[in-house]
Amino acid sequence: RHPRPPAESLVPRDVFIAVKTTRKFHRARLDLLLETWISRHKEMTFIFTDGEDEVLARHTGNVVNTNCSAAHSRQALSCKMAVEYDHFIESGRKWFCHVDDDNYVNLRALLRLLASYPHSQDIYIGKPSLDRPIQATERRPVHFWFATGGAGFCISRGLALKMSPWASGGHFMSTAERIRLPDDCTVGYIIEALLGVPLIRSGLFHSHLENLQQVPASELHEQVTLSYGMFENKRNAVHVKGPFSVEADPSRFRSIHCHLYPDTPWCPRTAIF
Ligand code: UDP
Ligand code: MN
Repeated sequence: RHPRPPAESLVPRDVFIAVKTTRKFHRARLDLLLETWISRHKEMTFIFTDGEDEVLARHTGNVVNTNCSAAHSRQALSCKMAVEYDHFIESGRKWFCHVDDDNYVNLRALLRLLASYPHSQDIYIGKPSLDRPIQATERRPVHFWFATGGAGFCISRGLALKMSPWASGGHFMSTAERIRLPDDCTVGYIIEALLGVPLIRSGLFHSHLENLQQVPASELHEQVTLSYGMFENKRNAVHVKGPFSVEADPSRFRSIHCHLYPDTPWCPRTAIF
């Protein structure tokens, strides 16, 4: 509950945020992120997609066409994670964070959290999606925890470099195929099962597989990631009053953004007072 003291100073350029998306979600999901949280620090964010889009390219230079298949298959998704990993290593930055295109990232809270850990040590932080460890069977069964990709997770450079034998080049995809599990599970497998580094659980990362109404509006400033979507067959979003109606802003991301950055030109001025 108590904020951790800073371990080192961090600037936005020290963090590499990979946003996973697909061509058909560029207008439906990505434009909202570009207008809200990405607009605050474009230099932190890299978009990993599977199709050309001139409209997107005009908005930001950091678009990577992965040439991965646009299918929602295990192979296509682990292909994207592999490209994200390789670009992060190439970038030389201190922290790698992965999010989906239905995540809101609170950049100030993210920087505060990451600055409380040394980037040269082994840090893997996020939210476990299950209440017990997952099992993978390679030669014999192994149990491990993984951070759910839908809530976002972060990895220090020190740890990412150690993942290289199983994650760099084509290795990530062959690791995922060997255990036949999705991309985020494969990350957990490499870190917990192969490298023996435990996941640091954080309650500040949120996916739409949890009840987002339970995130108190008074604690939005501390949350690192938020989301919206479906949960138990119901619409699921953060409960925040105004300035936009649920009809005008169903994800609540515009209202959350105005809550966190009331000086934004398109936010109603009353939000400041
Ligand atoms: N996604 C993708 N290719 C696809 C479908 C989805 O890369 O064919 C991405 C999507 O953009 C998002 C993530 O995978 O970042 C999760 O997709 P979604 O939120 O639709 O599914 P969920 O797993 O949350 O139900
Ligand atoms: Mn989703």
